[in-house]
Amino acid sequence: VTLTVLPVTLPAGFKPAMNGKLTACQLKPVFLPGHGMGSLFPTAARAWSALALIAHSELNVQLTATSVADTYRPYENQVAVFQQRYVNWFNPLICTTTDSRVWNGVRWYKRRNVAACATPGTSNHGYGLAIDSAVWAQTPNGNWYTQGITADPKVWAWMLANVTSFGFSWESSEPWHIRHIWGDTVSQRVKDIELWITTHGGTI
Ligand SMILES: [Zn+2]
Repeated sequence: VTLTVLPVTLPAGFKPAMNGKLTACQLKPVFLPGHGMGSLFPTAARAWSALALIAHSELNVQLTATSVADTYRPYENQVAVFQQRYVNWFNPLICTTTDSRVWNGVRWYKRRNVAACATPGTSNHGYGLAIDSAVWAQTPNGNWYTQGITADPKVWAWMLANVTSFGFSWESSEPWHIRHIWGDTVSQRVKDIELWITTHGGTI
């Protein structure tokens, strides 16, 4: 599967120094079934909420994030994730040879068997634009768990066909990581869904 990878337009006035340092006023809460409340930049939050609503309506699934920290991610949190996954000296027993990156002038090497993550200060999670999508699903025994976004072919095909119309695209080969790319603009599909909600007595 080839993912649709499109460049991000940042919201007006966003600068790299603000990455991971947004205030609560610059963010909007998003409900993440099974996990609680995360937050995203408002246009991304509106797009995600509309996407989750339509996925529920069309597929009867509950979209969520892999954790609340996988929506907006403060700088300190990105540092913690980065330091879990990368080490600042190369050890061929534990490091890959294919992913190293410079942070604060030092080269860091990715551990084997962990997912890549952005250098602190560069992640779209730090702008509140990225969400690591997942499904809050039930086992045949009725136990709830966080299911990978590609695990159910029906859900994954729906994501492939629909996320771009909500203003999201992928960033890399990581299928769970989508980010809102339209800056301060929300897509017409999101506006249409919000209009439907408000004209039917709902609030957004
Ligand atoms: Zn991510």
